[in-house]
Amino acid sequence: MPSYGRTDIAFEKGEGPYLYSSDGRKYLDFGAGIAVTALGHNHPHLVKALTDQANALWHTSNLYHIPQQQRLADRLVETSFADRVFFCNSGAEAVEASIKLIRKYHSTNGNPERYRLIAFEGSFHGRTLATIAAGANDAHRAGFGPAVDGFDHVAFGNMNEVRNIASEETAGVMIEPIQGEGGIRPADHQFLRDLRTFCDEVGLLLMFDEVQTGVGRTGRLWAHQWSGVTPDVISSAKGLGGGFPIGACLATAEASKGIIPGTHGSTFGGNPLAAACANAVLDVVLEDGFLERVIKMGELIEKELTNLVLQYPKVIKSVRGEGMMWGLKCEVPNSEIVAKALDYGLLTVPAGDNVVRFLPPLIADESHVREAVVIIEHCAQEFAT
Ligand SMILES: *Cc1c(COP(=O)(O)O)cnc(C)c1O
Repeated sequence: MPSYGRTDIAFEKGEGPYLYSSDGRKYLDFGAGIAVTALGHNHPHLVKALTDQANALWHTSNLYHIPQQQRLADRLVETSFADRVFFCNSGAEAVEASIKLIRKYHSTNGNPERYRLIAFEGSFHGRTLATIAAGANDAHRAGFGPAVDGFDHVAFGNMNEVRNIASEETAGVMIEPIQGEGGIRPADHQFLRDLRTFCDEVGLLLMFDEVQTGVGRTGRLWAHQWSGVTPDVISSAKGLGGGFPIGACLATAEASKGIIPGTHGSTFGGNPLAAACANAVLDVVLEDGFLERVIKMGELIEKELTNLVLQYPKVIKSVRGEGMMWGLKCEVPNSEIVAKALDYGLLTVPAGDNVVRFLPPLIADESHVREAVVIIEHCAQEFAT
Protein backbone atom coordinates (compact mmCIF):
# COMPACT_ATOMS: atom_id res chain seq x y z
CA MET A 1 0.00 0.00 0.00
CA PRO A 2 1.32 3.45 -0.79
CA SER A 3 1.35 4.50 2.88
CA TYR A 4 4.78 6.15 2.60
CA GLY A 5 6.19 8.94 0.52
CA ARG A 6 9.53 7.32 -0.11
CA THR A 7 12.79 8.86 -1.22
CA ASP A 8 13.93 7.25 -4.47
CA ILE A 9 16.86 5.31 -3.08
CA ALA A 10 17.55 1.79 -1.79
CA PHE A 11 20.46 0.50 0.25
CA GLU A 12 22.13 -2.86 -0.02
CA LYS A 13 24.89 -2.75 2.58
CA GLY A 14 25.75 -0.99 5.79
CA GLU A 15 28.94 -0.64 7.81
CA GLY A 16 29.09 1.34 11.05
CA PRO A 17 27.58 4.78 10.37
CA TYR A 18 27.67 4.32 6.58
CA LEU A 19 25.12 2.99 4.10
CA TYR A 20 25.80 1.94 0.52
CA SER A 21 23.05 2.36 -2.06
CA SER A 22 22.30 -0.10 -4.83
CA ASP A 23 23.61 2.47 -7.35
CA GLY A 24 27.00 2.44 -5.64
CA ARG A 25 26.94 5.61 -3.55
CA LYS A 26 28.13 5.92 0.05
CA TYR A 27 26.02 7.79 2.61
CA LEU A 28 26.68 8.89 6.17
CA ASP A 29 23.63 7.68 8.06
CA PHE A 30 22.63 10.30 10.65
CA GLY A 31 19.04 9.11 10.66
CA ALA A 32 19.82 5.59 11.90
CA GLY A 33 16.51 4.28 10.57
CA ILE A 34 14.75 6.84 12.81
CA ALA A 35 16.86 6.27 15.94
CA VAL A 36 16.79 2.48 15.56
CA THR A 37 20.26 1.31 14.49
CA ALA A 38 21.79 2.59 17.73
CA LEU A 39 25.08 0.75 17.15
CA GLY A 40 25.28 1.47 13.44
CA HIS A 41 25.11 -1.16 10.72
CA ASN A 42 26.66 -4.61 10.72
CA HIS A 43 27.97 -4.32 14.29
CA PRO A 44 30.01 -7.51 14.86
CA HIS A 45 28.67 -8.11 18.38
CA LEU A 46 25.05 -7.77 17.23
CA VAL A 47 25.58 -9.90 14.14
CA LYS A 48 27.13 -12.64 16.28
CA ALA A 49 24.34 -12.50 18.88
CA LEU A 50 21.69 -12.68 16.15
CA THR A 51 23.32 -15.49 14.17
CA ASP A 52 24.18 -17.56 17.28
CA GLN A 53 20.56 -17.32 18.40
CA ALA A 54 19.29 -17.97 14.86
CA ASN A 55 21.28 -21.21 14.83
CA ALA A 56 19.81 -22.28 18.16
CA LEU A 57 16.15 -21.21 18.46
CA TRP A 58 13.98 -18.42 17.04
CA HIS A 59 10.60 -18.53 18.70
CA THR A 60 8.65 -20.49 21.27
CA SER A 61 5.84 -18.05 22.38
CA ASN A 62 5.20 -16.74 25.84
CA LEU A 63 3.47 -19.99 26.82
CA TYR A 64 6.93 -21.03 28.08
CA HIS A 65 9.86 -19.49 29.91
CA ILE A 66 12.27 -17.60 27.65
CA PRO A 67 15.65 -17.30 29.42
CA GLN A 68 16.97 -14.60 27.03
CA GLN A 69 13.87 -12.51 27.74
CA GLN A 70 14.22 -13.05 31.51
CA ARG A 71 17.86 -11.93 31.35
CA LEU A 72 16.89 -8.83 29.36
CA ALA A 73 14.15 -7.97 31.86
CA ASP A 74 16.56 -8.47 34.79
CA ARG A 75 19.07 -6.10 33.20
CA LEU A 76 16.47 -3.45 32.37
CA VAL A 77 15.23 -3.63 35.96
CA GLU A 78 18.74 -3.49 37.45
CA THR A 79 19.61 -0.37 35.46
CA SER A 80 16.33 1.57 35.88
CA PHE A 81 13.54 2.61 38.27
CA ALA A 82 11.44 -0.36 37.12
CA ASP A 83 10.56 -3.64 38.84
CA ARG A 84 8.79 -5.32 35.93
CA VAL A 85 8.95 -5.39 32.14
CA PHE A 86 6.45 -6.41 29.45
CA PHE A 87 7.86 -7.11 25.97
CA CYS A 88 6.22 -6.39 22.63
CA ASN A 89 7.44 -5.61 19.11
CA SER A 90 7.15 -1.88 18.45
CA GLY A 91 6.89 1.54 19.98
CA ALA A 92 3.15 1.89 19.52
CA GLU A 93 2.60 -1.43 21.28
CA ALA A 94 4.86 -0.36 24.14
CA VAL A 95 2.84 2.85 24.54
CA GLU A 96 -0.43 0.91 24.20
CA ALA A 97 0.73 -1.47 26.96
CA SER A 98 1.58 1.54 29.14
CA ILE A 99 -1.87 3.07 28.60
CA LYS A 100 -3.59 -0.22 29.44
CA LEU A 101 -1.41 -0.72 32.52
CA ILE A 102 -2.26 2.76 33.84
CA ARG A 103 -6.00 2.23 33.35
CA LYS A 104 -5.78 -1.23 34.93
CA TYR A 105 -3.94 0.16 37.96
CA HIS A 106 -6.83 2.44 38.84
CA SER A 107 -9.52 -0.14 38.15
CA THR A 108 -7.62 -2.62 40.36
CA ASN A 109 -7.65 0.07 43.06
CA GLY A 110 -11.45 0.25 42.76
CA ASN A 111 -11.47 3.40 40.62
CA PRO A 112 -12.46 2.24 37.14
CA GLU A 113 -13.75 5.75 36.37
CA ARG A 114 -10.15 6.94 36.32
CA TYR A 115 -9.16 6.13 32.76
CA ARG A 116 -8.22 9.46 31.16
CA LEU A 117 -4.65 10.45 30.36
CA ILE A 118 -3.25 13.93 30.01
CA ALA A 119 -1.10 14.18 26.88
CA PHE A 120 0.62 17.07 25.12
CA GLU A 121 0.44 19.20 22.03
CA GLY A 122 3.20 18.26 19.59
CA SER A 123 3.39 14.68 20.88
CA PHE A 124 3.69 11.47 18.90
CA HIS A 125 3.00 8.06 20.41
CA GLY A 126 2.47 5.70 17.47
CA ARG A 127 -0.17 4.68 14.92
CA THR A 128 -2.56 2.30 16.66
CA LEU A 129 -6.07 3.56 17.42
CA ALA A 130 -5.25 4.41 21.04
CA THR A 131 -1.86 5.92 20.28
CA ILE A 132 -3.19 8.20 17.50
CA ALA A 133 -5.76 9.39 20.04
CA ALA A 134 -2.92 10.00 22.52
CA GLY A 135 -0.82 11.80 19.91
CA ALA A 136 -1.47 15.38 18.92
CA ASN A 137 -1.49 15.06 15.14
CA ASP A 138 -4.98 15.55 13.64
CA ALA A 139 -3.83 14.20 10.27
CA HIS A 140 -3.01 10.85 11.91
CA ARG A 141 -6.61 10.57 13.19
CA ALA A 142 -8.47 11.84 10.12
CA GLY A 143 -10.76 9.27 8.53
CA PHE A 144 -10.22 6.58 11.14
CA GLY A 145 -13.56 6.97 12.89
CA PRO A 146 -14.30 8.15 16.40
CA ALA A 147 -11.06 8.66 18.33
CA VAL A 148 -10.44 6.31 21.25
CA ASP A 149 -11.84 8.19 24.23
CA GLY A 150 -9.69 9.18 27.17
CA PHE A 151 -6.99 11.62 26.12
CA ASP A 152 -6.86 15.30 27.06
CA HIS A 153 -4.25 17.49 25.38
CA VAL A 154 -2.61 20.54 26.88
CA ALA A 155 0.32 22.77 25.88
CA PHE A 156 3.74 21.13 26.22
CA GLY A 157 5.31 22.59 29.36
CA ASN A 158 2.22 24.31 30.77
CA MET A 159 1.61 23.21 34.38
CA ASN A 160 -1.49 25.40 34.79
CA GLU A 161 -3.22 23.69 31.89
CA VAL A 162 -2.29 20.30 33.36
CA ARG A 163 -3.83 21.24 36.71
CA ASN A 164 -6.95 22.70 35.08
CA ILE A 165 -7.73 19.73 32.87
CA ALA A 166 -7.17 17.07 35.56
CA SER A 167 -10.43 15.65 36.90
CA GLU A 168 -11.82 12.76 38.96
CA GLU A 169 -11.50 10.70 35.78
CA THR A 170 -7.80 11.35 35.22
CA ALA A 171 -5.53 8.31 35.57
CA GLY A 172 -2.14 9.65 34.57
CA VAL A 173 0.11 11.85 32.50
CA MET A 174 2.06 10.71 29.43
CA ILE A 175 4.92 12.71 27.96
CA GLU A 176 8.03 12.38 25.80
CA PRO A 177 11.03 13.76 27.75
CA ILE A 178 12.15 15.16 24.39
CA GLN A 179 9.47 15.29 21.69
CA GLY A 180 10.95 13.47 18.69
CA GLU A 181 8.53 13.57 15.76
CA GLY A 182 7.26 16.89 17.10
CA GLY A 183 10.64 18.48 16.33
CA ILE A 184 13.22 17.60 19.03
CA ARG A 185 11.51 19.69 21.69
CA PRO A 186 13.05 18.96 25.10
CA ALA A 187 10.71 19.20 28.07
CA ASP A 188 11.94 21.58 30.72
CA HIS A 189 13.41 19.50 33.59
CA GLN A 190 11.53 21.59 36.13
CA PHE A 191 8.29 20.87 34.25
CA LEU A 192 8.95 17.13 34.56
CA ARG A 193 9.63 17.56 38.28
CA ASP A 194 6.42 19.58 38.67
CA LEU A 195 4.49 16.84 36.86
CA ARG A 196 5.90 14.27 39.31
CA THR A 197 4.86 16.39 42.29
CA PHE A 198 1.38 16.94 40.85
CA CYS A 199 0.90 13.24 40.03
CA ASP A 200 1.86 12.34 43.61
CA GLU A 201 -0.53 14.96 45.03
CA VAL A 202 -3.59 13.67 43.20
CA GLY A 203 -2.73 9.98 42.77
CA LEU A 204 -1.87 9.89 39.06
CA LEU A 205 0.70 7.67 37.36
CA LEU A 206 3.46 9.37 35.39
CA MET A 207 4.46 7.73 32.12
CA PHE A 208 7.40 8.74 29.92
CA ASP A 209 7.35 7.70 26.29
CA GLU A 210 11.04 6.91 25.77
CA VAL A 211 10.59 5.05 22.49
CA GLN A 212 12.87 7.53 20.72
CA THR A 213 14.85 8.99 23.65
CA GLY A 214 15.75 5.75 25.43
CA VAL A 215 18.58 3.21 25.32
CA GLY A 216 21.36 5.78 25.48
CA ARG A 217 20.13 8.13 22.76
CA THR A 218 20.55 11.24 24.96
CA GLY A 219 23.72 10.09 26.73
CA ARG A 220 21.90 8.55 29.71
CA LEU A 221 20.32 5.12 29.43
CA TRP A 222 16.92 6.88 29.76
CA ALA A 223 16.40 10.55 28.94
CA HIS A 224 14.27 11.15 32.05
CA GLN A 225 17.36 10.50 34.19
CA TRP A 226 18.61 13.97 33.20
CA SER A 227 15.71 15.50 35.15
CA GLY A 228 16.14 13.34 38.24
CA VAL A 229 12.44 12.41 38.07
CA THR A 230 11.38 8.81 38.72
CA PRO A 231 8.43 7.79 36.55
CA ASP A 232 5.95 4.98 37.21
CA VAL A 233 5.97 3.64 33.65
CA ILE A 234 8.07 4.07 30.50
CA SER A 235 7.80 2.75 26.98
CA SER A 236 10.84 1.73 24.93
CA ALA A 237 11.43 0.40 21.40
CA LYS A 238 13.38 1.89 18.44
CA GLY A 239 17.04 1.55 19.58
CA LEU A 240 16.32 -1.30 22.00
CA GLY A 241 16.92 -4.05 19.43
CA GLY A 242 19.51 -2.17 17.38
CA GLY A 243 17.43 -2.83 14.28
CA PHE A 244 15.60 -5.98 15.34
CA PRO A 245 11.97 -5.16 16.21
CA ILE A 246 11.33 -5.22 19.95
CA GLY A 247 9.45 -2.97 22.34
CA ALA A 248 9.10 -2.88 26.10
CA CYS A 249 6.95 -1.36 28.81
CA LEU A 250 8.86 -0.88 32.08
CA ALA A 251 6.98 -0.18 35.31
CA THR A 252 7.19 -0.25 39.06
CA ALA A 253 5.63 -3.20 40.91
CA GLU A 254 2.92 -0.87 42.25
CA ALA A 255 1.98 0.60 38.85
CA SER A 256 1.88 -2.83 37.22
CA LYS A 257 0.00 -4.62 40.00
CA GLY A 258 -3.12 -4.98 37.83
CA ILE A 259 -1.26 -6.99 35.20
CA ILE A 260 -1.77 -10.63 36.10
CA PRO A 261 -1.87 -13.72 33.85
CA GLY A 262 -4.44 -13.23 31.09
CA THR A 263 -4.66 -9.42 31.24
CA HIS A 264 -2.27 -8.56 28.40
CA GLY A 265 -0.07 -10.42 25.94
CA SER A 266 1.84 -10.67 22.70
CA THR A 267 2.63 -13.70 20.55
CA PHE A 268 6.03 -12.48 19.41
CA GLY A 269 6.91 -10.17 22.30
CA GLY A 270 10.42 -10.79 23.64
CA ASN A 271 11.01 -13.94 21.63
CA PRO A 272 14.48 -15.53 21.78
CA LEU A 273 15.77 -13.77 18.62
CA ALA A 274 14.55 -10.32 19.65
CA ALA A 275 15.75 -10.71 23.24
CA ALA A 276 19.18 -11.91 22.09
CA CYS A 277 19.56 -8.78 19.95
CA ALA A 278 18.43 -6.43 22.72
CA ASN A 279 20.80 -8.13 25.19
CA ALA A 280 23.63 -7.57 22.73
CA VAL A 281 22.69 -3.87 22.43
CA LEU A 282 22.79 -3.57 26.23
CA ASP A 283 26.19 -5.33 26.34
CA VAL A 284 27.62 -2.44 24.35
CA VAL A 285 25.57 0.51 25.66
CA LEU A 286 26.24 -0.46 29.30
CA GLU A 287 30.00 -0.85 28.75
CA ASP A 288 32.10 1.47 30.89
CA GLY A 289 32.58 4.80 29.16
CA PHE A 290 30.08 4.22 26.32
CA LEU A 291 27.47 6.76 27.46
CA GLU A 292 30.16 9.26 28.51
CA ARG A 293 31.35 9.15 24.90
CA VAL A 294 27.82 9.76 23.64
CA ILE A 295 27.62 12.83 25.88
CA LYS A 296 31.01 14.09 24.59
CA MET A 297 29.99 13.62 20.95
CA GLY A 298 26.70 15.34 21.75
CA GLU A 299 28.55 18.35 23.09
CA LEU A 300 30.61 18.49 19.90
CA ILE A 301 27.47 18.28 17.72
CA GLU A 302 25.84 21.06 19.73
CA LYS A 303 28.91 23.28 19.46
CA GLU A 304 29.30 22.75 15.72
CA LEU A 305 25.62 23.18 14.91
CA THR A 306 25.39 26.28 17.11
CA ASN A 307 28.23 27.70 15.01
CA LEU A 308 26.17 27.14 11.89
CA VAL A 309 23.22 28.96 13.45
CA LEU A 310 25.48 31.97 14.08
CA GLN A 311 26.93 31.84 10.56
CA TYR A 312 23.71 31.20 8.65
CA PRO A 313 20.86 32.75 10.65
CA LYS A 314 18.73 33.12 7.50
CA VAL A 315 18.82 29.33 6.97
CA ILE A 316 19.04 27.85 10.47
CA LYS A 317 17.16 29.44 13.32
CA SER A 318 18.18 27.36 16.31
CA VAL A 319 19.51 24.04 17.52
CA ARG A 320 18.14 21.89 20.34
CA GLY A 321 18.53 18.41 21.74
CA GLU A 322 20.71 16.25 23.94
CA GLY A 323 23.34 13.55 23.41
CA MET A 324 22.87 12.05 19.95
CA MET A 325 19.44 13.57 19.37
CA TRP A 326 19.53 17.00 17.74
CA GLY A 327 17.15 19.19 15.82
CA LEU A 328 17.92 22.11 13.54
CA LYS A 329 14.98 24.47 13.39
CA CYS A 330 15.13 25.87 9.88
CA GLU A 331 14.18 29.16 8.27
CA VAL A 332 13.84 27.44 4.88
CA PRO A 333 11.67 24.32 4.37
CA ASN A 334 13.23 21.44 6.34
CA SER A 335 12.43 19.00 3.52
CA GLU A 336 14.67 21.02 1.20
CA ILE A 337 17.60 20.79 3.62
CA VAL A 338 17.03 17.06 4.05
CA ALA A 339 16.97 16.63 0.24
CA LYS A 340 20.07 18.76 -0.28
CA ALA A 341 21.98 16.91 2.46
CA LEU A 342 21.02 13.64 0.79
CA ASP A 343 22.50 14.94 -2.49
CA TYR A 344 25.74 15.50 -0.59
CA GLY A 345 25.60 12.00 0.96
CA LEU A 346 24.15 12.68 4.41
CA LEU A 347 20.96 11.07 5.70
CA THR A 348 18.86 13.09 8.15
CA VAL A 349 15.18 12.91 9.14
CA PRO A 350 12.60 15.69 8.91
CA ALA A 351 10.45 16.40 11.98
CA GLY A 352 7.57 18.68 12.97
CA ASP A 353 8.06 22.40 13.62
CA ASN A 354 10.21 22.65 10.43
CA VAL A 355 13.07 20.76 12.04
CA VAL A 356 15.83 18.60 10.53
CA ARG A 357 16.67 15.75 12.89
CA PHE A 358 20.14 14.37 13.53
CA LEU A 359 19.95 10.89 15.00
CA PRO A 360 23.45 9.46 14.46
CA PRO A 361 24.26 5.95 15.55
CA LEU A 362 25.61 6.12 19.10
CA ILE A 363 28.95 4.77 17.85
CA ALA A 364 29.57 7.81 15.64
CA ASP A 365 32.95 9.42 16.38
CA GLU A 366 34.40 12.87 15.95
CA SER A 367 35.33 12.35 12.30
CA HIS A 368 31.75 11.33 11.46
CA VAL A 369 30.34 14.36 13.27
CA ARG A 370 32.73 16.68 11.41
CA GLU A 371 31.85 15.04 8.09
CA ALA A 372 28.14 15.64 8.74
CA VAL A 373 28.68 19.23 9.83
CA VAL A 374 30.67 20.02 6.68
CA ILE A 375 27.78 18.75 4.57
CA ILE A 376 25.20 20.76 6.50
CA GLU A 377 27.42 23.80 6.14
CA HIS A 378 27.52 23.28 2.35
CA CYS A 379 23.72 23.10 2.35
CA ALA A 380 23.40 26.23 4.51
CA GLN A 381 25.79 28.09 2.19
CA GLU A 382 23.72 27.19 -0.85
CA PHE A 383 20.48 28.30 0.74
CA ALA A 384 22.08 31.49 2.05
CA THR A 385 23.15 32.64 -1.41
C1 LIG B 1 8.50 6.13 16.93
C2 LIG B 1 7.75 6.44 18.17
C3 LIG B 1 6.62 5.69 18.56
C4 LIG B 1 6.05 4.59 17.69
O1 LIG B 1 6.94 3.56 17.47
P1 LIG B 1 6.60 2.44 16.34
O2 LIG B 1 7.69 1.42 16.53
O3 LIG B 1 6.65 3.12 15.02
O4 LIG B 1 5.26 1.90 16.63
C5 LIG B 1 6.02 5.99 19.76
N1 LIG B 1 6.48 6.98 20.54
C6 LIG B 1 7.55 7.74 20.20
C7 LIG B 1 8.01 8.80 21.13
C8 LIG B 1 8.21 7.50 19.00
O5 LIG B 1 9.25 8.27 18.65
